[in-house]
Amino acid sequence: MKILVLNSGSSSIKFQLFLMDENKSIASGLIEQIGQDNSHAILKANGEVYERFVPIKDHNIGLEIMNELFRESGTLHDLKDLDGIGHRIVHGGETFKSSALVNDDVIKKIENNIALAPLHNLGHLAGIKTAMKSSGDVPHVVVFDTVFHQTMPEYAYRYAIPYEISKKNHVRRYGFHGTSHNYVSQEAAKFLNIPYEKLNAITLHLGNGASVCAIKNGKSVDTSMGLSPLEGLIMGTRSGDIDPAVLTYLISCGGLKAEDMDDFLNKKSGLFGICGTNDMRNIEEKIAQNDELAKLAFEMFCYRIKKYIGAYYAVVGKLDAIIFTGGIGENDQGMREKVCNGLKHFGISIDNSLNKDRSNRGNRCLDDNNATIKTLVIPTNEELMIATETLKFIKK
Ligand code: ADP
Repeated sequence: MKILVLNSGSSSIKFQLFLMDENKSIASGLIEQIGQDNSHAILKANGEVYERFVPIKDHNIGLEIMNELFRESGTLHDLKDLDGIGHRIVHGGETFKSSALVNDDVIKKIENNIALAPLHNLGHLAGIKTAMKSSGDVPHVVVFDTVFHQTMPEYAYRYAIPYEISKKNHVRRYGFHGTSHNYVSQEAAKFLNIPYEKLNAITLHLGNGASVCAIKNGKSVDTSMGLSPLEGLIMGTRSGDIDPAVLTYLISCGGLKAEDMDDFLNKKSGLFGICGTNDMRNIEEKIAQNDELAKLAFEMFCYRIKKYIGAYYAVVGKLDAIIFTGGIGENDQGMREKVCNGLKHFGISIDNSLNKDRSNRGNRCLDDNNATIKTLVIPTNEELMIATETLKFIKK
């Protein structure tokens, strides 16, 4: 069974081809700068790199070039030969409580949610429509970042603003990175030999975007991102939690304009806003050179994570594991050490040599003998999760 996973943005398409009988990826690539002169397509397969540096006018041409590269690499002759195509969709709003087989009704419902994530959902729709045109009868499945969190109780997802206004405008916490939180928690349950529906865990997805999820009995009961991915942890360029009064204050006397706020909070804040870089490796290099703002950014990042662990520990109750994932979660031992430091009374206690050991890149446990709660590192694989979801619809 060959499944293609597409993650289409407004000017890019990330793709990965899976051989599901072996649960493995056989090719992956990226088409970027669609619509610009410097567009570029790359595919990696069989240890080789296949590339095109040509103008890619739109998603249609992008997929034609992807097809060409697949053919050249010998991994796929034509999109029509696939068993299914899975699409990552950022926002499913309140409409989607599970993944869905694409039909006209599903496309209309995604269109109805455009206002909740305009940039993302428009790009996804362009990808779906184009891929459908060139793939014959191949079934398409949409997998949403928000769906895993649809099990949150209303007292957790509602904002304390006038109830009618929030209901009417669908203003509530949705949460994101659901595919990742779901994947790593399922992997953790297998690793710990606990039935998934009994797993209690806190998952920490720490990449450029970052979020925490409280999982009780295998279900998301709270998560740090909200209506948009802006809420919660400090991220690469996003502020995370902030007093909303800061915004009105900066507009009235800080020289900022209301129309610039989105950019200010999403692109100019977070680690980047504090110390001028959003790359954690860079921050650690700067810390080694005694850069005070880099130190502050790192301290703030870790402190916010620790606060959420405390909060979600209280939410979940008896906890089996905390799980680190994402580029920073999987690779940054210094961050893990700082976050877990001082949590022995919670039962969280890690062994420094296990934490620092970079020879094991797979699912791993960092506990020392004092721990009563497992601290795990589980590399995320959102694309494999989307391919697995897609397969479920094909088998039906
Ligand atoms: P995205 O949210 O874009 O998918 P990733 O999950 O790839 O992001 O994570 C990107 C982040 O991971 C960057 O901040 C990068 O600095 C960090 N990162 C990658 N490798 C390391 C490492 N060895 N040590 C610390 N941070 C790392």
